[in-house]
Amino acid sequence: MAILEVKNLHVSIEDKEILKGVDLTIKTNEIHAIMGPNGTGKSTLAAAIMGHPSFTITKGEILLDGENVLEMAVDERARAGLFLGVQYPSEIAGITNAEFMRAAINARRDDDNKIPVMQFIRKMDEKMDVLDMAEEMAERYLNEGFSGGEKKRNEILQMMMIEPTFAILDEIDSGLDIDALKVVSKGINAMRGESFGALIITHYQRLLNYVTPDVVHVMMNGIIVKTGGVELAKRLEAEGYKGIRDELGIEF
Ligand code: ADP
Ligand code: MG
Ligand code: MG
Repeated sequence: MAILEVKNLHVSIEDKEILKGVDLTIKTNEIHAIMGPNGTGKSTLAAAIMGHPSFTITKGEILLDGENVLEMAVDERARAGLFLGVQYPSEIAGITNAEFMRAAINARRDDDNKIPVMQFIRKMDEKMDVLDMAEEMAERYLNEGFSGGEKKRNEILQMMMIEPTFAILDEIDSGLDIDALKVVSKGINAMRGESFGALIITHYQRLLNYVTPDVVHVMMNGIIVKTGGVELAKRLEAEGYKGIRDELGIEF
């Protein structure tokens, strides 16, 4: 079992405090969802865990199996088993999707243990089948000219290929049609297991109809205000965020 712990995390951007003490513990074999209105700091949390340079950690800790993540560079975090899938991945011309994924897999392996080419190709074929992706996507430049739905499927493909210990998926579901949503969910569900945990950030309950989270957190104004089971997501769908605000006496 692996464990990712966020403790009393405070994060600022340009002297503005965005996260005001986030506590979160995710274990492998668990899928957590974070829901919350726009601008509450969900993406900031994802970026801080991954080490985006724009965000300043002013207080708190992030630990991966007890190791201090905040001392690791971005590539070290990836090698340690963290993965971030984003809503708008960058387009990178000059490197194909397959080349990128092979390099990402090999970055997590020792020099004498690189993935054999045939094994890589078989694995990529197999995962692309799960995601209903056309074979030619492997040889296209990374995300270049991909549609919104293709980019998100490709983020999930990367996750399936790299097999991180913890994946953070930031609004990977927004803008997807129902078929793409089902495919993306299938990919996430296929990862579930003893050596994988996930944090799914979403605005909508919709994705959670297909990927059942073990734990649901609600974030407002830079902190987690409520944690529960899947019923919490259903309640949010029925009541919106107003119900939680009224219950907790949050005014804004
Ligand atoms: P969410 O993902 O919950 O919608 P974000 O984490 O993206 O929220 O944003 C939280 C707050 O931080 C918002 O008020 C947003 O305007 C601000 N913010 C995010 N990124 C930046 C940035 N690069 N520079 C300045 N402010 C930012
Ligand atoms: Mg946002
Ligand atoms: Mg966001």
